Amino acid sequence: MSSELSTAEQAAITSGGDFWHTSAVESAGLPAVTLTDGPHGVRMQATGGDLLAGVPATCFPPAVASASTWDPELLRRMGEALGDECRAQDVAVLLGPGINLKRSPLGGRNFEYFSEDPILTGVLATAWVRGLQSKGVGASLKHFAVNSQETDRMRISADVDERTLREMYLRAFQRVVTQSQPWTVMCAYNKINGVYASEHHWLLTEVLRDEWGFEGLVVSDWGAVVDRVKAIAAGLDLTMPGPDPEGDATLRDAVEEGLLDPGLLRASAERVRKLVEKAGQRPAGGYDAAAHHALAREIAGRSIVLLKNEGDLLPLPGSGVSIAVLGEFARTPRYQGGGSSQITPTRLDDALTQIQSATSAGVTFAPGYTAEGVEPDEALLAEAVAAAQGSDIAVVFVGSVHETEGADRDSLELPASHLALIERVAAANPRTVVVLSNGAVLATKPWDESVPALVEGWLLGQAGGSALADVLFGRVNPSGRLAETIPLKLSDHPSYLDFPGEHGHVRYGEGIHVGYRGFDAREQAVAYPFGFGLSYTTFSYGAASASATATGVEVRVPVTNTGRRDGREVVQAYVSLPGSRVRRAPRELKAFASVEIPAGATTEVVLTIDRDDLAYWETRLGRWVVEGGTYHVAIGASSRDIRSEVTLEVPADADRVPLTAESSVGEWFADPRGAELLGAAFAAATAEAGADGGQMAAMTADPAMMMMLGSLPLSRMAKFPGSPLQASQLAKLISEANG
Ligand code: BGC
Repeated sequence: MSSELSTAEQAAITSGGDFWHTSAVESAGLPAVTLTDGPHGVRMQATGGDLLAGVPATCFPPAVASASTWDPELLRRMGEALGDECRAQDVAVLLGPGINLKRSPLGGRNFEYFSEDPILTGVLATAWVRGLQSKGVGASLKHFAVNSQETDRMRISADVDERTLREMYLRAFQRVVTQSQPWTVMCAYNKINGVYASEHHWLLTEVLRDEWGFEGLVVSDWGAVVDRVKAIAAGLDLTMPGPDPEGDATLRDAVEEGLLDPGLLRASAERVRKLVEKAGQRPAGGYDAAAHHALAREIAGRSIVLLKNEGDLLPLPGSGVSIAVLGEFARTPRYQGGGSSQITPTRLDDALTQIQSATSAGVTFAPGYTAEGVEPDEALLAEAVAAAQGSDIAVVFVGSVHETEGADRDSLELPASHLALIERVAAANPRTVVVLSNGAVLATKPWDESVPALVEGWLLGQAGGSALADVLFGRVNPSGRLAETIPLKLSDHPSYLDFPGEHGHVRYGEGIHVGYRGFDAREQAVAYPFGFGLSYTTFSYGAASASATATGVEVRVPVTNTGRRDGREVVQAYVSLPGSRVRRAPRELKAFASVEIPAGATTEVVLTIDRDDLAYWETRLGRWVVEGGTYHVAIGASSRDIRSEVTLEVPADADRVPLTAESSVGEWFADPRGAELLGAAFAAATAEAGADGGQMAAMTADPAMMMMLGSLPLSRMAKFPGSPLQASQLAKLISEANG
């Protein structure tokens, strides 16, 4: 079919027709199709000009919130609903989900990303993509890859070692690609180890297509392509936005001059054609805006994380207790971040109205601060204090003022005006609840010590106000869990010393120890750990058991709802391998389940760990390896609240690292075959030399000396005078060791 397109048409179709459409090729009967943002709503631009004015669409909770549900089923339903809205707007590809790891809590786009953990991210994003694509609408997995900061985002080189890259920054992409085949993957703006993602052949072709079997199309982030020829050569198919007649001409010339393999351009054009044809098969559709608002409310309610609830101050009764609602955010909600994901909602619930209708008792409101005001305003504070003093309970709404694509944050602190409000209100009324609205974690110390209840409300989308009232009044029993650690302070964070880099480079110095992995490895205290969240009920765990299956490990644990309310527990399985041959984090999340358990009931929760998820990236072999040994599986209610532990023998992959002349004496002895051969060679040399023989031979008999010799490569040892090993023996030893 591709032969129908001329080189000029191939070049034209591999760049957009305009900001949001592919190029139509009339001669081939190919229409233009629409790609639009994404990810927590359909941002269909109403007019050509204003990037932010979209046709009204449901603003579902951004990923910072939906990830806190830890429930792939909810994400699948969100994906389906988005698919219906795409069909209603004739959208072929929705630009999401965003699955970059939250490397630093300062990340300006953390609100669009799921977690600091790759498995949690990968499981949730897979469900979202499946839901969306089940409606015949394509996803765009973004931003591929290592796009974990906004500072200098279009030029910065993320400098990261391969094990970290594979195990942390690519792992979620690998999972989503292999398990749900997104129609498209969006390449990132940044460089990875000095090479633009848009020109990264290893990333876009060798890893994405050859290793993972990606069958879809690679689209650029908007404006990510620097050089069209290099991009096509690397495996990027569609440059957005367009049109780009100059770039098209350059591509044509490159083919004609033999500078670009024509087969590569043809293949990219063919992928665009396939996408357009696939999109043409989706039926038109409509959606029920009220039902989608209800779904947005359900997901938002499940996203809220109850961080503190001393004396069971929450839930609030629906009568008999007067409430002071304080803080402008109660009236003017913060419900999404800024930038390309900004949705024009179909409606917007505010918490104040929802609280007023949830209680028959008196509600007094005072704004406490202005929407954008960061400096304390004495008059507003005094009004809020008076309201708090005159009410039985005070509920204070505070948070971050602004988070946006394109800029990282510079601190974790609440604005001074919000801090002052908490401080004054808590002093005036000991029964104070704080509700946070924020797209990335905020420091909660020391002010949270002065309030008995704290609710993490993230950015919850258009139904956030009603969802907050649902949780505050107990219509929804909170079950959200932190998908990112809340540190005590910014300087504790594993990324702190290497974020956001300088002079075009950011060094991923903490390596695999991203987020909780780093806090756990350094045994550091945190404010609220990864996986944490309270409920209005309590759960107890029985003894876990684990068994090997054909595909991995199955863990079973009985969990009992020991309280008086029905509730939902998020059961988490963390794995470690003490004595591993590689450095590992003390706990790595490998499986989880969100389970509804009626009051008083016990449920046997089954967690399935894929064998592949136990693998580490073996740099010496350039592949994933499951190390054999006794794995510890810690089952808990958070990464730091382990309730039951179980061990399990896991057989090793056949993963022998070949021994060479450059392998050290220690490495030879660590390998059973190597130890046998080298031991025999040493013994023979010692015997031959006799009692007063070679110095080296004597050394090999001394364990302390052998410790010192452990780091000596065989080739170097063979050069020492009196060595028990001669250079002439090496070739035979090596071939016997590896044979
Ligand atoms: C963002 C992408 C987005 C694209 C199109 C870029 O600035 O990084 O996430 O999909 O714009 O709006």
